[in-house]
Amino acid sequence: MINPSHLESYTFFGLEPGLAILIVGRVHGNEPCGTEAILKIINSLRSGKIKLKTGKLTLVPVCNALAANRNTRNGDRNLNRCFYPKIAIESFEDSLNNILCPLIKDHQILLDLHSFKKGQEPFALIGNSDMTLPVNNLCKVSEAKIASWLGVTTVISDWSSTYLTGVKNRRERDKIKEPFHLNYDENYGDGTTEFARKSGIAAVTLECGQHSDPNSVKVATNAVINLLAHLSLITNPSNTLKIYNPRVIKLIRVVDKLDANDFFLFDWQNFDRVSKGKPVAKRKNGSQILAPEDGFIIFPNSDAEIGQEWLYFGTYKN
Ligand SMILES: [Zn+2]
Repeated sequence: MINPSHLESYTFFGLEPGLAILIVGRVHGNEPCGTEAILKIINSLRSGKIKLKTGKLTLVPVCNALAANRNTRNGDRNLNRCFYPKIAIESFEDSLNNILCPLIKDHQILLDLHSFKKGQEPFALIGNSDMTLPVNNLCKVSEAKIASWLGVTTVISDWSSTYLTGVKNRRERDKIKEPFHLNYDENYGDGTTEFARKSGIAAVTLECGQHSDPNSVKVATNAVINLLAHLSLITNPSNTLKIYNPRVIKLIRVVDKLDANDFFLFDWQNFDRVSKGKPVAKRKNGSQILAPEDGFIIFPNSDAEIGQEWLYFGTYKN
């Protein structure tokens, strides 16, 4: 039983100065791989199997205990949306925001561990694909660089900016002036990593595999160890610092579902390749959605609610 009456956070300090790293799991309650990986790492730190040399390492095994207890994605609402401090508390997740936001601000790098329902290949999500751009003056390392240490072969960038453009288009399309509904609110897309970036902190989301795949725990554990070794918080147990050179797919467009009778022309899977001009979906009125560039279908959701994200297009980062 996970007790939702409090939030547990474990902080370990190396004896020498260094970076402050935050690793979080179970922002979504039905995604246990982050929790299991974090508990393994806590045990390894306590037993001395992993030695923390420098800096500060904070681990939060379960961010949303209410959702984790129910084994559902959300408690009262999706913790990975509207992620900023709240004055009026209207949900369990609002209370969590007021604990987790200051915790994130106390660190320089955030790694948020997730898993997915459909698909095979683990991947990382970063804000911006620029390898050379340090996110802040403290950690001097770009999110693209961090993602290249995590052991995944695919990195997706520019979700936030694509989502924001999508919300603006949505408001224009539906002639909405005020964001009285969450679908039209630019801040609705803010999750843990968006809040971190707005606070000057480098943040990467790692999607470690399917929810119940035991390999997702290995992916998560390996990523955390590689991250800590590359940042010199620990000595890598295998004594190698591997860089994986993942492909970076930049999101360029989001398409909303507009009617229950809109449909995909194929059973799209995440990362399916498409060439420019290929018809991928059809609206109720007969108009077709065409791929805007040579690239990929990302996060296809045939069950999307009306007015919400149906699929994204991505291209290779130039
Ligand atoms: Zn998730």
